This record gives sequence, structure tokens and C-alpha cells, in this order.
Amino acid sequence: MERKTIYLCLAHMSEEGWEQKYIKEAFDTNWVVPLGPNVNAFEKDLEAFVGQDKKVVALSAGTAAVHLALIGCGVGPGDEVCVQSFTFCASSHPIKYLGATPVFIDSEKDSWNMDPELLEQAILDRKAKTGKYPKAIVPVALYGMPYDCTRIMEIGNKYGIPVIEDAAEGFGSCFKGQVLGTFGKYGVLSFNGNKMITTSGGGALICQDEEQKNKIMWYATQAREAYPYYQHEEIGYNYRMSNICAGIGRGQMSIVNDHIAHHKHVQARYAELLKDVQGIHLHCAPNADYDANYWLCAITIDPEVRIQGQENAYKETVKSAVGGAAGVIHEVDCPTTDCQPNDNVEALRVFLLAKKIEARPVWKPMHKQPVYADSPAYVNGVSEAVFQKGMCLPAGPMVTDEDIEYIVESIKEAII
Ligand SMILES: *Cc1c(COP(=O)(O)O)cnc(C)c1O
Repeated sequence: MERKTIYLCLAHMSEEGWEQKYIKEAFDTNWVVPLGPNVNAFEKDLEAFVGQDKKVVALSAGTAAVHLALIGCGVGPGDEVCVQSFTFCASSHPIKYLGATPVFIDSEKDSWNMDPELLEQAILDRKAKTGKYPKAIVPVALYGMPYDCTRIMEIGNKYGIPVIEDAAEGFGSCFKGQVLGTFGKYGVLSFNGNKMITTSGGGALICQDEEQKNKIMWYATQAREAYPYYQHEEIGYNYRMSNICAGIGRGQMSIVNDHIAHHKHVQARYAELLKDVQGIHLHCAPNADYDANYWLCAITIDPEVRIQGQENAYKETVKSAVGGAAGVIHEVDCPTTDCQPNDNVEALRVFLLAKKIEARPVWKPMHKQPVYADSPAYVNGVSEAVFQKGMCLPAGPMVTDEDIEYIVESIKEAII
């Protein structure tokens, strides 16, 4: 039998087909619009899940949630926002949408997330250089690993700067027993196709109270004033979640705990099977305070490890879509950049792909991205070093124990 490709993280629906039932209900009741009973019920489900008496607004994307959270913090042209550099671009791009400037903060060695010491240095240095404090702080739960919530919240409170938690990858992760996204002024969630749960595309913003929620909802629905006709006194956005997508989300909430348990199980299997593999290190929680959902499992590969085909790494430009769903290929002329994963990482990616295993480099830090060349960055070398050595392995509910054994055997086979 031919082996099927093992993808990095695939969506998975409930056995009972709840997702389709809720969608059908939406059609049957003619709620095929970006609001409605599924949206309201999904928000209630999310509020029950995150706890802490928080309110949740369902939105069209996690990126939209970041954007509205920044607006909620009053970020505008000329402002600065401290954001984790080691992240997916959706954490920082919305800062640019607003004409503000991201100030990139490097990571701690153990969690790979925002280094509180560098954060405080950056805040003081920005104040000294610009006369103003940054308007917000955006830590990111990279691959579901919590950031140091205690220290980041302390620093935010000390300087009166609101924290926007980007928990898009960390849905259900906890720090000292509290769900991520409930510590800061806002918490960002994503339900894109490859996240912990999916609504096909979608996101949500965790708010502190009903008043905050109403404000975000107002911005998400074109900022309409209460008149019988359209009256606009501020610029709004069309960011509300569709009632169809929310139907999927409601169904997914019936299995979210199973998904999280499965991701943790996959991580534990990798830990067991990789423990004797020389030069390969699995990224694990620093201590028991960090309860990661292990959305993706990540390894680092020592530079000394030699991989089959390494001499051919980066000889050709990429011809197929990178990042699966993205689809659109912006072709490049040169297969290399001035900051890229080591040859052995690229060789392992290619080796695994030939074995029908999708592995991917860890995210390239934003302070190394050409588009952010002009943004200030406070760095310690951690994220760049992890980028050179790191790789994400398949995780998620569709990855079986047999798959994990096959993946680890393939990694062993690749090593010379
Ligand atoms: C996925 C993701 C988001 C939000 O992305 P959407 O695709 O717009 O839902 C934000 N931040 C991080 C770190 C992410 O991984």
C-alpha cells in the first residue's frame, strides 16, 4: 500500500459530525451571514473554555484579532509596539497596518519566547530615545509554548503598558494553571486550518469584560453609529466571523480537549523515541509552570550532525507552495538568503519530504526579515540560533503512533 503524506498539522473533525450539523442548521435557518446563533454559541463555548470571567469576540482571522487588539490599546501612526521577534508574521504585520513601528524583542533560551529582561531594556531604551513608552507588548506562544506570564505582566504593569497575548498557536496552553490569553488586556486566538482547532479560517479576541467586547465588536462591524442610516465617526473593519465558520468552531469545541491531549501525547512519543538520537534535541517545556499544548513539535539539530544529501542543500529554488495552504508562489531567483537554516536542516527537510513526511524550518525571526530591516530590535542571538538549527515535525490528531515511529526511524536513517 502506498504511504500517505504525513502533514505538519491537519484539521480533524469530530466523529459525530457536529461541524456539519451546525452548518446545516445555519443553512436551514437562513443564517448565512457574518453573525448569528452559531457565532453567539461559539463565543459562549470559548468563554467557558478560557474561564476567568473573560468575554470573547469571534472574528474572521487571528490576524484580525491582533489588529483590533492593537486598536483597542490605542496604537496609531508613530507609536511603537514591543513584539516577540520569533513568531509568525501575523503578530507584527498589523502593527504596520496602523502606521506604527514594531520593536522586536528576542527570546529566552528555554521557552523560545519573549525574554523579559530584553523587554524591559527595550522599554527603557525606547523611552530614552523617543521620549515615549511603547503602546503595547505582544508576547507569542510559539508552537504553543507559554511565555513567562508572571514576569511579562509585571513589566507591563510596572510601566503601564498593556499586554496583548498572541496565543494563536497556544490555544489551551496554561501558565501556572491559567489559560493563555487571559493574563493580558487582550488574548488572540486563531482557528486557521492548521491550528489546534479550526473554523476553516477564523480567530477570536479574548477581552476582559463586556464593555471591551462591545468596543471590539463595534470595530469588527464597520464602526456603525446607532442611527437608522449608516453614520460613521470612526474607521471600522469587516472582521466578524461568519455563522457558517462558527458552526465548524462549535463542532470543534466538542473535541478540543482530545486534540490538546493528542498533541501532548505526540510530543511525549517524540521525547521517548528521540532521547537516544545523538545531536537531535526536542524542544520541551522549561518547567512545570509551562503547560504547553505542543501545537507543533520542534527539534534542533546540532551543526555537527551530517545528513544524507547535505552537499546538495539549497542548490535549487523552491518550486512548490511553501506552507501548504498559502498556494501563491512568489518565485525567487536565488535559493539562499543571508540568514537561513543550516545545510543539515535543509537536507533533513528534503530527505523527509521524499519519505512523505512534511517537516518545516522553525519560523524565521522578524528582525531578520528584509521587510522589517528598518525596525528597532533588541537581540541576544537566541532566535537566530534556533532558526539555524530548528525544525518542526508533524503533530496533531491525524498523526498516529505508527507515524511517529516512522518519522523518527526516517530521521535516524537520514543521519550519516
Ligand atoms: C496563526 C497565527 C496568527 C493568526 O493567524 P490567522 O491565520 O490570521 O488566523 C497570529 N499569530 C501567530 C503566532 C500565528 O501562528
